[in-house]
Amino acid sequence: MRTISIAIDGPAGAGKSTIAKIVAKRININYLDTGAMYRAVALKALEMGLDCKDPEQIIPMLSSTNLSVSYERERQLVYVDGKDVTDLIRSPQVSIAASDIAVIPEVRMKLVEIQRELAQRYSLVVDGRDIGTYVLPNADKKFYLTATIDERARRRWLELIDRGYTLDINEIKKDLEKRDMNDMNRSFAPLRKAEDAILIDTTDKTIEEVVDEVCSHLSDIFA
Ligand code: C5P
Repeated sequence: MRTISIAIDGPAGAGKSTIAKIVAKRININYLDTGAMYRAVALKALEMGLDCKDPEQIIPMLSSTNLSVSYERERQLVYVDGKDVTDLIRSPQVSIAASDIAVIPEVRMKLVEIQRELAQRYSLVVDGRDIGTYVLPNADKKFYLTATIDERARRRWLELIDRGYTLDINEIKKDLEKRDMNDMNRSFAPLRKAEDAILIDTTDKTIEEVVDEVCSHLSDIFA
């Protein structure tokens, strides 16, 4: 059976995961958060005391790392070596470590293989940085979400407060700028808009408006 893939890429804080989750639910398919996979590998490296920027430390760890994704009541759970790390991977430290580790091509290749396998088996809304350009270049529909850096920092700040972290908003802005730099300037599968992706600036839009806009482009897939 043919599966459907919808790619949603863009920088951190652009609203990808919020939108992807709601869209997936609306059209009754699963949602894959690929950032969670990079976060999970970074968490393991941090727990082992490894430097996420050093391929010589990270690559040997990869072959003995078992990463898997499952769904429980529509929520994506991420496991590393059998341990559920779904909540542990959301700290600001893991965000930065994930964007450092995501520069290493061997890390990307391992995770991309898993992402492609999942997309072959299941219809998915996939959120990431390189989904439309590299992981699933033949996705049925591609979106690229953006927002101003101030708005993205504000959203991340609110999200972190919700998770119990109190951080200065300027610190968050600096972290986002660092992650943008890492993501856009790495040589292997950098963050950029696929030529055939639909660009949506979410800065002044409500979640409902963005979801409606995304869904308005999906009708031909289901025709
Ligand atoms: O999306 P999220 O902020 O959870 O992703 C964490 C980090 O993982 C990003 O900053 C990015 O560096 C990396 N990532 C990536 N490619 C993806 C998804 C995430 O490089 N497809």
